[in-house]
Amino acid sequence: MALIIQKFGGTSVGTLEKMRNVARCAIQAHENGDQVVMIVSAMSGETNRLLKLAHEIAEVPDSRELDALAATGEQVSAALVAMTLQKMGARAQSFLGHQIRVHTDGAFTKARIRTIDGTRLKETVQEGKIAVVAGFQGVDSRGNITTLGRGGSDTTAVAIAAAIEADVCEIYTDVDGVYTTDPNMCPTARKIARIAYEEMLELASLGAKVLQIRSVEVAMKYGVAIHVRSSFSDRPGTMVVGEEDLESVTVTGVAYDKSEARVQLIGVPDKPGTVAGVFKLLSDNHVSVDMIIQSASSGSGETTEVTFTVNETDLARVKGLIEAHMDSLGGGTSVEYDSDIAKVSIVGLGMRSHAGVASKMFSILADEGINISAISTSEIKVSCLISAKYTELAVRSLHDGFGLDKLAQTNPPPNKQGRKIRQSS
Ligand code: ASP
Ligand code: MG
Repeated sequence: MALIIQKFGGTSVGTLEKMRNVARCAIQAHENGDQVVMIVSAMSGETNRLLKLAHEIAEVPDSRELDALAATGEQVSAALVAMTLQKMGARAQSFLGHQIRVHTDGAFTKARIRTIDGTRLKETVQEGKIAVVAGFQGVDSRGNITTLGRGGSDTTAVAIAAAIEADVCEIYTDVDGVYTTDPNMCPTARKIARIAYEEMLELASLGAKVLQIRSVEVAMKYGVAIHVRSSFSDRPGTMVVGEEDLESVTVTGVAYDKSEARVQLIGVPDKPGTVAGVFKLLSDNHVSVDMIIQSASSGSGETTEVTFTVNETDLARVKGLIEAHMDSLGGGTSVEYDSDIAKVSIVGLGMRSHAGVASKMFSILADEGINISAISTSEIKVSCLISAKYTELAVRSLHDGFGLDKLAQTNPPPNKQGRKIRQSS
């Protein structure tokens, strides 16, 4: 007997008919002898519909009321799923965030979970009932309803898994797992059987479509095994686990991101404080910067070049800020902008112990005639900035160049390995 979390996203509970499918899935696990806690999102499109209503009233609606409104979507689906389970002969009970004390901080629309009291859920499943929890919502210390940010039901699911020490947190979604790269961009993309939390976080541009990033951080902190799988098939999906449960491969996935823009400052006075001034300006205005490259100083104390990337959506604002700041850089500085760029990245834990991964990446791109305009690295990732028109070519050649098209798709049965939650720190 295992204690399992089954989380269903909006598309999986989008109609009453689909609710019968998810109910069947939970009942099946229950009949196999497992205890089941379901977490549900709002019916597909519902959160958007609610937020749209709010924005018809005010351009910037009050955030407390926005959360009170948005949280209703999950209340509806939790109650409807519980009724569906009952209709199908199971005993079931729904719970809202505050009823199981999902305590959060008071940051409306992006609250973070502080604690969850698992007692009531544990009692419910011990009585042989299926518990159905409204995802995405919590309550702050003053009793206000809060929500956890878009896609936040994933985080509810993982946090509850940690709180009640579930054996596995199954996230049912409309894709059947996490892929080595975007299958729409690269026909040889393969489903990854097991991936480490750290890799999943670095592959955010791929993974974010599947899991809320925050949920992976919580899973990593508490050692919750996540099983990302399709709500339309029985086949195992992707296990997101700690690295001790993995065989190391050098490169696990190839990600790309077309949403960045490049800002290049030329002729910047090469003296202490200039670069600090530029980035303080950006951070004071809540612009987050991704890659930063400064060309080597000549040492002669003359000028240098600074290149950095920001999100495309911030570019207009950044232009205004930089232009207003030009005077304090001295007369000789000029600036260029380019939003036709893409960042391609290779990610893998194995990079820590294998030399030559970055140089192989550069040669693969060079062989395709793709010019690299900036590079950044972390312990388990190498990113290159290239011209956007080469994105597909770069992704495909890196993917196959690192042998990801030949990855074995063996996956241990979900009921065995990878189920047990290890409590860490
Ligand atoms: N319903 C919320 C949203 O659409 C939360 C979720 O689906 O996870 O973002
Ligand atoms: Mg989602």
